[in-house]
Amino acid sequence: MMRIVLATHNAHKVEELTRILGPALEGLELVAYDGPEPVEDGETFEANALIKARAAAAFTGLPALADDSGISVDALGGAPGIHSARYAGTRVDADNVAKLLEELGDATDRSAQFSCAAAFVVDADEFVELGVWPGTVLEEPVGAGGFGYDPVFKPEGLSVSAAELRPDEKNAISHRARAFAQLMPRVRERLLG
Ligand code: IMP
Repeated sequence: MMRIVLATHNAHKVEELTRILGPALEGLELVAYDGPEPVEDGETFEANALIKARAAAAFTGLPALADDSGISVDALGGAPGIHSARYAGTRVDADNVAKLLEELGDATDRSAQFSCAAAFVVDADEFVELGVWPGTVLEEPVGAGGFGYDPVFKPEGLSVSAAELRPDEKNAISHRARAFAQLMPRVRERLLG
């Protein structure tokens, strides 16, 4: 088994990504990272994902994966974007959702997208891929699953919110799934040839 460090301190994220990746992980083992967290001062999802992967690779000496994600709302000029996690200033999901609904008010253009940049760093090589999940912002939260902005996000082509999807349904179509589906062939090629 070749080990890859996942640049997150969150054991739940290791488990979730292990499920998302499924067969793409064959021959590889994801391990959690417990080193210092870098300052995420990039201006794009891709830049921030690379910052996290570089820090984990440098600290552990292992190949490293990282992701950075958020929701971008057209009528808000792409906000909150890379600032999604701390949009309301508290890091509390319900506060972020309330702020988003307040900022959007009764805007008729409610188009939005979740984005996820997935990055991989090994030695001097760096790879990054962006996955996008388009949809619209609902007027009120609906559903009890998921996390973050899921209760107010209605994915394009569906009639339910992301918080009403089962985890396996969301994991098959989300921005995170799309980003890693693009990245993993490159990871496997680089590590396993
Ligand atoms: P990160 O952990 O720095 O990538 O921050 C991601 C933030 O974007 C989270 O705290 C959520 O607020 C939001 N976000 C990212 N992905 C999702 C998702 O799949 N559903 C809901 N919110 C998400």
